[in-house]
Amino acid sequence: MGMARTRLVAGNWKMHGSRAANRALLDAIVKAMGKGASAECAVCVPFPYLQQVSGQLAGTALAWGAQNVSEHAQGAYTGEVSAAMLAEFGCRYVIVGHSERRHLYCESDAQVAAKFAAAQGAGLVPILCVGETLAERDAGLTEEVVARQLDAVLGKGAFSDAVLAYEPVWAIGTGRTATPHQAQAVHAFLRKRLSREARILYGGSVKAGNATALFAMPDIDGGLIGGASLVAQEFLAIVQAAAKG
Ligand code: PEP
Repeated sequence: MGMARTRLVAGNWKMHGSRAANRALLDAIVKAMGKGASAECAVCVPFPYLQQVSGQLAGTALAWGAQNVSEHAQGAYTGEVSAAMLAEFGCRYVIVGHSERRHLYCESDAQVAAKFAAAQGAGLVPILCVGETLAERDAGLTEEVVARQLDAVLGKGAFSDAVLAYEPVWAIGTGRTATPHQAQAVHAFLRKRLSREARILYGGSVKAGNATALFAMPDIDGGLIGGASLVAQEFLAIVQAAAKG
């Protein structure tokens, strides 16, 4: 048996927040978490709030990150943010290839792979998101799709200590969670392409009420949490579920 994988719960705030709301949310989370949470946890926030969270979370057990990064190091890329800039704000994590980026902003597998490499090059831990649409699942293409999305990144280099998040598109923000067994089946499939140590998170309508059953599955190493990460008590309950067992 290898070393147990430390569970990770990462919040994805998406395009939500305000300075006042962030302060209150982080305050509530940090107070309840204390310093020695036994699951790792992080919040991935909109770019303008990185200064605020780096100030408020320094020295706490809650890490932080961004939701996107440019594949370029610098230059004439109006509106983009480089991995080195994120590193300067103390980010540990950055989400790459979230389904909203892939679908609303037409990010290709190749572009996501370039972003992944840029993040690692700056010393950040990319959280790579993969997942099939409902039409792809119904057509029996789930494994083909997630393998293609993951292999685009593996082809560019080592996964090393990066994090993978399986997020079925039909479960994101819909309230329709994959069952623990549906998620476990895909996680086990993805695990075969990675080292035993790599962490694979599940994302898609994870809530306090379903987190324990999901995290009980052998290849589910935590969660990427959208809506529920905006409510302190929900997020904390999910972190508690990850800290058990
Ligand atoms: C996400 O944004 O990655 C996500 C999983 O969202 P939600 O938890 O709201 O489904």
